[in-house]
Amino acid sequence: MTDASALARAESLIGTIPDYPEPGILFRDITPLLADAAALRATIDALVEPFAGGFDVVAGIEARGFLLAGAAAIAADAGLVPIRKAGKLPRPAASVSYSLEYGTAAIEMHDDLAPGTRVLLLDDVLATGGTIAAARQLVAELGAEVIGTAVLLELDALKGRALLGSAPLNALFHA
Ligand code: AMP
Repeated sequence: MTDASALARAESLIGTIPDYPEPGILFRDITPLLADAAALRATIDALVEPFAGGFDVVAGIEARGFLLAGAAAIAADAGLVPIRKAGKLPRPAASVSYSLEYGTAAIEMHDDLAPGTRVLLLDDVLATGGTIAAARQLVAELGAEVIGTAVLLELDALKGRALLGSAPLNALFHA
């Protein structure tokens, strides 16, 4: 299968689950894509390709970002750093809070990321952009540099891209 046809197949394997996890939400389910070897390989290659050679670590955002980040780090010969929800990391961590539709959330990274480390941020879905914007702030607070962001799926109507300004964003698929 060529990369293009594998990518087209990958897109078709993203499911849409109505009213999950709550009424009114259309949940985008990437697990069928992950389970397909050719689709997964093509997806990982396409996510990192625009940034090839330009980053030292992939930072995967909990939880579905982790599923992509491990594979992407190996494919790109880069390290892997987790960005976790508050209270999950065992060592001292930097923290950034951000707004959700209702209330707030916080994400954290261990605070020993070397200053100047070049970071590729990775997540499954870009919705309102709040999570990626907070992750960018977190990396900056540690003195490291986000060289780009890659997501599988951008939900265009939510305009999350606007929160990222002119920062490089590779969104493979759009809905
Ligand atoms: P946001 O901060 O609004 O851009 O939301 C992005 C985060 O929420 C990502 O980590 C996604 O995994 C998750 N997310 C938001 N909306 C959806 C959706 N419709 N389907 C699946 N995941 C979503």
